[in-house]
Amino acid sequence: MSEATAQTTSPAAASAAAVPAVPRSGWHVATVASTRRETPNASRIELEVDGWPGNAAGQHLDVRLTAPDGYTATRSYSIASSGAGTRVTLAVDRLPDGEVSPYLVDDVRAGDMLEVHGPLGAFFVWAPDAAHAAAAVDARPVQLIAGGSGVVPLYAMAEAHGVAQDPTRFRLLYSVRSPDDVYFADELRRLAEASAPLQLDLVYTRRAPDGWRTPPARITREVLESAVIPAAERPRVFVCGSTGFVERVADWLVELGHDARSIRTERYGGT
Ligand SMILES: Cc1cc2nc3c(=O)[nH]c(=O)nc-3n(C[C@H](O)[C@H](O)[C@H](O)COP(=O)(O)OP(=O)(O)OC[C@H]3O[C@@H](n4cnc5c(N)ncnc54)[C@H](O)[C@@H]3O)c2cc1C
Repeated sequence: MSEATAQTTSPAAASAAAVPAVPRSGWHVATVASTRRETPNASRIELEVDGWPGNAAGQHLDVRLTAPDGYTATRSYSIASSGAGTRVTLAVDRLPDGEVSPYLVDDVRAGDMLEVHGPLGAFFVWAPDAAHAAAAVDARPVQLIAGGSGVVPLYAMAEAHGVAQDPTRFRLLYSVRSPDDVYFADELRRLAEASAPLQLDLVYTRRAPDGWRTPPARITREVLESAVIPAAERPRVFVCGSTGFVERVADWLVELGHDARSIRTERYGGT
């Protein structure tokens, strides 16, 4: 972000004290309700957002940090929660040289205040199909594909699916470095055992659990083909992660016969 390189002040260090008394137009004041370690490198942050209108599964928001000298830094974060209410859950991965994420992961504490704008994004969302649910008829299946922290909006969709007991077939292919790096590990396990189950396929890129059937490796086209709902079943596909991950996976999906119009992507940046 160009603003970041032009200033020496860290907006992060002073941001909590710099939330305006009256929110700027379109922005909400969020109070940090709780934080917890999600993985060794990431935190889960629960916000109580004044005036939050609720959000759909898959949407994101912008977080803005402001230094006393007025310098600001704004970043987008997917929302891990969905539905009505003013509680919003985020999960943030620490980028070692990042301007904003180390502050959110390591320094934010319960009671701190942040500015947030949203909910944002109407394309990368999933909602239970009430008509199909009422008729207990399967809608088109849903394939979720996540790289690292890209699981956040996909977890929101899987959770909304579980809560609604929606009959749509749901499958998640999730690429992570190691077993310690799985976000929402307990929740995903519970969703996989629910009455409207999530089919969960994990791929480990650096370290796999003892006895895992394959050595750790990045997702290949062959792995993708074997672990996603086949193109012939016309799944709706949601892919989220770093830009490089998303573009690689989306290209392979098209090569494997998936209709490009059925593939929705969210790119987090990086390569
Ligand atoms: C719609 C949307 C939703 C997002 N949701 C989440 C989320 O739920 N959780 C989350 O942790 N992040 C999420 N991100 C990424 C987030 O917005 C920031 O980009 C990230 O936290 C890095 O910010 P930073 O200020 O720490 O790093 P910066 O100071 O912006 O960047 C530091 C360095 O890291 C590189 N970089 C930036 N982003 C990435 C990346 N994603 N992967 C690898 N390298 C990168 C930059 O090119 C730069 O070299 C989302 C992004 C988008 C667009």
